[in-house]
Amino acid sequence: MKTIDTHSHYNLAQFDEDREVAIARMNEAEVGTICIGIDLETSKLAIEIARDNENIWACVGQHPTEWSQEWDAVEFAALAEGTNVVAIGECGLDYFREAEREYKNEQVILFRRQIELAIESGLPLMLHIRPEVGTMDAYDDAIAILKEYKTAAPQLTGTAHFFAGDERIAQEFLDLGFYISFSGVITFVKEYEAIVAMVPLDRILSETDAPFAAPAPYRGKRNEPAYVVEIVKKIAEIKDLPLETVEAQLLQNAQTLFHTL
Ligand SMILES: [Zn+2]
Repeated sequence: MKTIDTHSHYNLAQFDEDREVAIARMNEAEVGTICIGIDLETSKLAIEIARDNENIWACVGQHPTEWSQEWDAVEFAALAEGTNVVAIGECGLDYFREAEREYKNEQVILFRRQIELAIESGLPLMLHIRPEVGTMDAYDDAIAILKEYKTAAPQLTGTAHFFAGDERIAQEFLDLGFYISFSGVITFVKEYEAIVAMVPLDRILSETDAPFAAPAPYRGKRNEPAYVVEIVKKIAEIKDLPLETVEAQLLQNAQTLFHTL
């Protein structure tokens, strides 16, 4: 494994038809990945997929838009103990759609349970934070909650998956000791260049969020972990560093944050 895609979903239905073939393509590209759960069912499947594949690890948790499903504290605590489980999530706050904004309190409660599990299990958080368009509201709420827990649990850490915040928010996460994960969006949205430039290379992670959000030149297609290389290339271009240097550093960052990788 030369490169790591720290956030993908081989456990979702989009890969039901050809999961094994897609994983073989990832291995061929010398890429590894963390398979992310969005609820109890998909978290269990992530663990199964990780068990069967040397270069795949699992992350267990419940997505903020899954707030209507009850949080199963007992089941998730047991899953968090799995040897291939490297993080808790994806969890956080999603205020993107109006329908979700009506359930901020439910989302906050679900988020808190997972922060507490991360502290208990010693695992990092895989954060999904999506604000209302034109605002940083979900980021501000999430950062306030994380700061509250950090006082009693300074070791609490994690990464802001699919980072879509501004420079102020990026700095807040850096100050909290968190990493910033960049997705394929940086390959076609120029506004991200300043943020990629600003975040120190040793605090950046690369990810695809496959099957969603394919990078250029694969836009519109189903995304795959093998395409993470396009994101690493873009980071190297913005940082004006050799691809090999960036690739090695991003892999090392993931190994530092997700210790068992
Ligand atoms: Zn995801």
